[in-house]
Amino acid sequence: MNYRHLYHAGNFADVVKHATLARVLAYLARKSAPYRVIDTHAGIGIYDVLADEAERTGEWRDGIGRILQTPPEGGIAELLAPYFSVVSAINPGPELSAYPGSPEIARHLMRKTDRLTLVEKHPRDFETLAALYRPDRRIKTVELDGWLALGAFVPPKEKRGLVLVDPAFEEPGEFDRLASGLIAAHKRWPTGIYCAWYPAKDATAVAGLAAALVGADIRDILQIGFAVDEPQAVGPLAACGMVLINPPWTLGDDLRTVLPWFADRMARGRAGWSVDQIVPE
Ligand code: SAM
Repeated sequence: MNYRHLYHAGNFADVVKHATLARVLAYLARKSAPYRVIDTHAGIGIYDVLADEAERTGEWRDGIGRILQTPPEGGIAELLAPYFSVVSAINPGPELSAYPGSPEIARHLMRKTDRLTLVEKHPRDFETLAALYRPDRRIKTVELDGWLALGAFVPPKEKRGLVLVDPAFEEPGEFDRLASGLIAAHKRWPTGIYCAWYPAKDATAVAGLAAALVGADIRDILQIGFAVDEPQAVGPLAACGMVLINPPWTLGDDLRTVLPWFADRMARGRAGWSVDQIVPE
């Protein structure tokens, strides 16, 4: 396990992932019944963007750094308000020094009765994560393989909720594991929302994931793609995607509004985006 998210925290892919996550959580908060979030590859929760590792790649400067340079207005500002509320909550000063990971976004947006399960396998990252969230009784942190967690913690006792699967993609076969893990979890909890992120470096692997999900007995799947430049098989990440099962019905249109704005701001070359309902409701 060599992957450390600190090198990448706040990059373009995180911005897309976390703004989407915040939209889903804002939607879940519209009903009073409690929900559960299960984050199978949680990371450390909050990232110090001024740390050596983050500064060495400088990825956050071309991601959240560029987004904060020109704040959005009107409808885009409204859609991004939940995401920005978390970024500002952990950055009291005018300059960005901390970037929220998925655990912090969920913690900030959840209510008293909602619950959050955070799973992380890297021993040192787990320690950091557990220390940060130990005081919060709504949150359970678990040192475990996220793929096992997908089997062990789904379905939760709550009727509503979200499973975020955000692996490091450093081991071979993770696209296949993602497809089979989502299909198996959906069988056990068909009403849950599932949100999975992937790098778009290998077009065959991405197509294989979509084909496996389309071929499974699952309704209502949204796929999004986002690129800051032509996708490349090697070199720095230029494109990513997400698949969402049972997305909030408003999410497709929300993202059709927000992603072009993101693409304009974070483009390095030929940027682009897509939002496709690959399986109807
Ligand atoms: N979800 C986080 C966020 O949005 O802030 C970022 C997660 S990062 C892309 C992937 C994380 O998965 C890393 O923290 C890595 O240590 C962890 N990891 C790698 N293999 C794992 C496994 N088999 N089970 C659980 N966590 C794993």
